[in-house]
Amino acid sequence: MPGMSADEIKATGRALLEIDLEALAENYRTLAARAGSGASGAECAAVVKADAYGLGIAPVAQRLLAEGCETFFVAHLAEGQALRKLTPDARIFVLDGFPPGAAKLYVDSDLVPVLGSLPEIAEWAEFCKRDGARHAAALHVDTGMNRLGLDRRDIPRLHALLPAFAPVLAMSHFVSAEDSSAPRNRRQIERFDEACALLPPMPASLCNSSGLFLEEAPFLDLVRPGYALYGGNPTPGSDNPMRRVVGLSALILQIREIAGGETAGYNAIWTAPSRRKLATINIGYADGFLRSGSGGDYGVEVFAGGRNCPVVGRISMDLTIIDISEADPLQRGDRVEILGEHIGIDDLASQAGTIGYEILTDLGRRHIRAYANATAKADETSRAD
Ligand SMILES: *Cc1c(COP(=O)(O)O)cnc(C)c1O
Repeated sequence: MPGMSADEIKATGRALLEIDLEALAENYRTLAARAGSGASGAECAAVVKADAYGLGIAPVAQRLLAEGCETFFVAHLAEGQALRKLTPDARIFVLDGFPPGAAKLYVDSDLVPVLGSLPEIAEWAEFCKRDGARHAAALHVDTGMNRLGLDRRDIPRLHALLPAFAPVLAMSHFVSAEDSSAPRNRRQIERFDEACALLPPMPASLCNSSGLFLEEAPFLDLVRPGYALYGGNPTPGSDNPMRRVVGLSALILQIREIAGGETAGYNAIWTAPSRRKLATINIGYADGFLRSGSGGDYGVEVFAGGRNCPVVGRISMDLTIIDISEADPLQRGDRVEILGEHIGIDDLASQAGTIGYEILTDLGRRHIRAYANATAKADETSRAD
């Protein structure tokens, strides 16, 4: 946090979330280079939905803009409006499309909805006719997710509607790009090819983060990474090619020793197998430290006193108990790594039975947020927040 010393941060009694915007920028450059941006390759957009996966849309978008990113994807109108305040020029696509009656709000903020059904496309076309302008929209074609997007059989019925607006991008979304051996990936690429052949010529986009690492390299005209920008591993099972962006640390509030047979935490789900030294830290499920990481046997690990230490007992709302018996000596006020050099978002996620995406998007609103290497403008924004 600008102007706050380590002691002042500690005095707040809050956990500390550190976000390295230079690492984010380097991840953007890595992904853009993979996609061949700058040469004849694909443009690299950035997905910044859900407050930039929990990292903070203002500082993240400012840094990406400074890196030359010109196209962003958000999920909702409000996210698009927030982003539009930061950049008059960037293209902003809204992945969820637009709700009935809301077209004008999108046009007012110069947002491009991603349209995925005939009723939605018909309403956009109708709005454009009434408004006397061919406003831009993207077309989402379903290739297997069955979530959002046009059924291929709908495409012939689209042609009467297309002249009323400006379709600027055709896109689809992978079901399981993180599993590079899944035959489904190739099938989706083929289906998307077939769909694009039925549409008027326009730029096309298929890849999320993991798509950028598929052997088939279906980068087309534009790629849409999110997770990998923020340091998540787009190639699970192999080394993470991305730089770490997020660090999260908690404070030790209290240390105690308990005898074997005693329990710790709510509902007494954990019993000490022998004499144990425990530390209570200032982070809980209200901070996004998922309760599913609780330890009836032993739970997720944090890094403290030079080694990994397991959570014991239930993670509660604001507090967590860890077993530091094997760690180097620790005392009240010491910092414990929840995420960082030793514990990655994918590690914590797999131990807590979820995916790193959920770890990121649950990052608590009450952590102290410190942005390293912000642009001057983003720095002001984080102070104003
Ligand atoms: C969220 C999302 C992305 C980004 O996916 P990552 O796996 O985070 O890279 C891309 N496209 C669509 C349609 C999405 O919903």
